[in-house]
Amino acid sequence: MADQQVIPTVSFDSDDELVDLLPPLEWDYETALSNRHTYLTPVIGTFQATTKPILLRRGEGAYLYDADGNRFIDTVAQNQAISVGYRNPFVYAAVKQQLSEIQHCSTMWMHPGPAAFAKAVIAKMPPGDWVCHLLSSGSEAVELAILMARVYTQRHTIVALRQAFHGAAGATALAATAISRFHQMLPGASGIVHVTNPDQYRGIHGPGIDPYLDELRASVASSTNGEVAGFIFEPVQGYGGVIPLPSEYVRAAAALTRESGGVVISDEVQTGVGRTGAHFFGFMEHDVVPDMVVMAKGIGNGFPLSVVIVRREIAEAMTSRVFMSTMGSNPTTSAAGRGVLAALEHQGLQENARVVGEHAIGLFRELQEKYEVVGDVRGRGLMIGMELVKDRETKEPAAELTAAVADQISDAVIVSKSGAHANVLRLVPPLCLSSQDAEEVVERLDAALAKLT
Ligand code: PMP
Repeated sequence: MADQQVIPTVSFDSDDELVDLLPPLEWDYETALSNRHTYLTPVIGTFQATTKPILLRRGEGAYLYDADGNRFIDTVAQNQAISVGYRNPFVYAAVKQQLSEIQHCSTMWMHPGPAAFAKAVIAKMPPGDWVCHLLSSGSEAVELAILMARVYTQRHTIVALRQAFHGAAGATALAATAISRFHQMLPGASGIVHVTNPDQYRGIHGPGIDPYLDELRASVASSTNGEVAGFIFEPVQGYGGVIPLPSEYVRAAAALTRESGGVVISDEVQTGVGRTGAHFFGFMEHDVVPDMVVMAKGIGNGFPLSVVIVRREIAEAMTSRVFMSTMGSNPTTSAAGRGVLAALEHQGLQENARVVGEHAIGLFRELQEKYEVVGDVRGRGLMIGMELVKDRETKEPAAELTAAVADQISDAVIVSKSGAHANVLRLVPPLCLSSQDAEEVVERLDAALAKLT
């Protein structure tokens, strides 16, 4: 008989001793920075909030603490991945319970977690025969939504809006993104037609929606054979600079898409999970029911969970071929999702987003009255943008000032810059931000603007 390898027994009671055996974490700032430069891809440095990254150690609710224990109000929420707050007790309990049993179970076997999560998220949708496809990231979910649209309609063209962000990875999701700095020096995936977004502040046709709809119709008539696979939109464009879309436009675009044989895809990666305050999903404000909804980021509160909620009939079209995703339908990320939905319900966080968001937007409007450089204030719930301009008439973007304001308050408040011209301060905090926190953020912005203008 061959010798049996003896695996040493380790117990869950000795967590600390086991952690000591892991590759160590370096908390000294210079060492951490040097390790990041040495071992992680340099491309991560192209997208960061501050010139020098803050070394974060801990989060609690809407607050972050760096390695030295300094506290920050976080208005970026890890790019909205943190919806119900850092260390949310519901998410913590759900994930811990799941980890104590089994961390993954692929769709080749069965665990009740993914379906329990799917049932709970479908309960947030308008009536319909919905099913969920669970994945890990937003780009992946957009990619699949577009694939399903094409397979179902047997058409190829997807119409997307300028200033849209639908992903930076995945050929089709990246091709659907319409913010130049994310595009690589390569031909984009075929079959995406971009049309002008109806930006009511800075849009090339000015305010109103008719010229934007004319362009949409003209683009479908000229750049396609008249048949489209789908229309994808963000109910409030996020990275584009917090641009709420006019409802009438969304409704008309959805109608035109359906007349052209396509399906409507709402990218709720930023607007979902109650972020807009009034509704769980951003599309609800527009009074249109999409055929597919893409969620990621906040639905997992920092765990890699994404979802395509899709009409059963569309999902069924995919069953003529095999499709799978190893990490999709993971019971641990599904537990995080169940935790998020429970936290929203039991902690009233969507209502908090509505109330604190309204209060905050009022305070931002006061800043707009006080400072000429504040060209526009807009948003929904806790998704707020403040656009800084050199001149209110010409709307020339004040990108340097925007960066300087963000840096000026960065000892106590984390904000991010967005928009095509990087001149929009974007406030998208965890949904548990308090009114007092919002007041402190605005006071600090006020002081920074007073100093820098
Ligand atoms: N859609 C939208 C609206 C997004 O904001 C993002 C991410 N910023 C994505 C899709 C892609 O998500 P991920 O980064 O998880 O791939």
